Amino acid sequence: MVYNVSEIFYSIQGEGLLQGLPMVFIRLAGCNLRCPFCDTKYAFKNGEKKEVKEILKEIRQYPCKKVCITGGEPFLQNLFPLVKTLKDKKYYLTAETNGTLWQKIPLDWLTVSPKTDGKKIHPQGYDKRFLNTASEFKYVITGRQDLSFIDRRIRKPVVLQPVDNNIEIAGEIVMFLKKNSGRNWYLRLQMHKVTGIR
Ligand code: SF4
Repeated sequence: MVYNVSEIFYSIQGEGLLQGLPMVFIRLAGCNLRCPFCDTKYAFKNGEKKEVKEILKEIRQYPCKKVCITGGEPFLQNLFPLVKTLKDKKYYLTAETNGTLWQKIPLDWLTVSPKTDGKKIHPQGYDKRFLNTASEFKYVITGRQDLSFIDRRIRKPVVLQPVDNNIEIAGEIVMFLKKNSGRNWYLRLQMHKVTGIR
C-alpha cells in the first residue's frame, strides 16, 4: 500500500487531551474540506508517495513509540494497512480526523474534530458512528456562534480550542465553561504555537 505523505516529524502533541506527549507525526496529504482558518493548507497538495515499509523505516529513527496520524484529512486514504503494521510493531497509535469519512480502524486514541464545512457532508459536520469510536472531540472556536455548533449528543470529552490561540475567544470559552461546569468540556490552547515548538 502506498500513501500520499506530506511530512513525517518528531515533536510534542500540541493539542487535545494528549497535549504534551512526545509523538512522531505522520501527516498525510490532501483534505476534502476547506476551512478558512486551516493552519495546514500546505498539506492540501500532493505529498510524496511512500510505501508502509518506507514510513516505518522513517519513524523508527526516532526514540518514540507513540505515533499520530494526521493531515490534511488522513481518512481520505485507506489507513488499515499502515495501522496494522504499526500496531504489530507495538506502536501506540493516535489519529485525528475531521470526521466526515468513516473508517473503523484499531487505534489507541482517536480525535474527531468536526468542522462547519463538514455540514455539506453530514448535518452535524461528522459521521455519527464516531460518537462511539472517538476518544475525544475537538472543536476550533472562531467566535461565540461556534459554541452552538457543538453536538450536544457527544458523551466523550470535548476540547474547545480558540482559533489561533485568540485570547478574547479563550475568554468567551472560559465564561461559557464556568456557566456549564457539568459538561466534560475543556479549554485547550495550541501549545506548540504558544511555545514555538515545531
Ligand atoms: S479539515 Fe483540517 S486540514 Fe482540512 S481544511 Fe479543515 S482544518 Fe484544514
